[in-house]
Amino acid sequence: MALLSIRDLSVTYHSGTRHVKALNSLNLDINEGESLGIVGESGSGKTTLIMAILRLLPKGSVEISGEAFLNGKELISLKQEELLKMRWEEMALVFQKSMNALSPVHKIGVLMSDIYRIHKPEVSKRDARRRIEELLELVNLPSRVYDLYPHELSGGMMQRVSIALSLMFNPKLLILDEATTALDVVTQTQILEEIVALEKKLGITRMMITHDMSVVASTCKNVAVLYAGCLLETGLTQDVLVEPLHPYTQGLIKSFPVFDNDTHQPLQSIGGSLPDLSSPPPGCIFEPRCIKACDMCRESMPRLKEYGQGRFAACHLAGGEINV
Ligand code: SF4
Repeated sequence: MALLSIRDLSVTYHSGTRHVKALNSLNLDINEGESLGIVGESGSGKTTLIMAILRLLPKGSVEISGEAFLNGKELISLKQEELLKMRWEEMALVFQKSMNALSPVHKIGVLMSDIYRIHKPEVSKRDARRRIEELLELVNLPSRVYDLYPHELSGGMMQRVSIALSLMFNPKLLILDEATTALDVVTQTQILEEIVALEKKLGITRMMITHDMSVVASTCKNVAVLYAGCLLETGLTQDVLVEPLHPYTQGLIKSFPVFDNDTHQPLQSIGGSLPDLSSPPPGCIFEPRCIKACDMCRESMPRLKEYGQGRFAACHLAGGEINV
């Protein structure tokens, strides 16, 4: 059963006479207890997607349409008071640079206790401290971290504190926005392994935003490929990585290094850059960069079509057939 269902979600940024469609009629589901990696280059709409779901986009200059249901509740039209209750308790977010989220003038324990007691004012200081120490232990931090300031922690420890904060109220949906990108590879691997172990232990559903295919390959059951605000391909990670249907996914995979002594192929990149989303190309959004583009691609944007159980791609030529 889907814990999160996104239906026809579109986001347009307005700035004077410029109107940039950053998300274009997105449809996605994440089943309870599963993990979904969202990949795509910078500007593909990954962060806009989570900001729209969490309703963190600035009001006034942004237009949002469509729906996003979390456990049956529609988030885009939800009243502010109800939304505040759902944040932290039903859905929580871990940002990339946790040091920006931690107050430099408060000790970790004070910061975490204050947040805990704002949500649960009936809890005593002693019980709050017990819960915080429990959370620190959960993310493999020693209890002495409670009495330390953020500047006394390493980047990895700060990221663990952010993860502990996000787990404070046992959210059903955990969203990670490039949460391990700024860390060295050893710490990144450790933290990713810990997150996967925690979600099994706590029954969490995870949505992970990243531009790193290897992170998705090692930690996500499903993957969705975003490009210029459009969903181009989705399915089980192992299927998409082994046999990508969309030329953009194929290009993304080829641009990753293979550590194999028998493979001596130079890295390939995808030529060109993202289109100007205030005046997108008339046909397929990827057509200006696609090496397989044909006349049909310049005329119409392909619809997302199913290729087997849960496997979708939006390309006129996907699966070796012509799809109109
Ligand atoms: Fe390339 Fe055409 Fe497929 Fe678009 S529809 S990805 S341009 S082949």
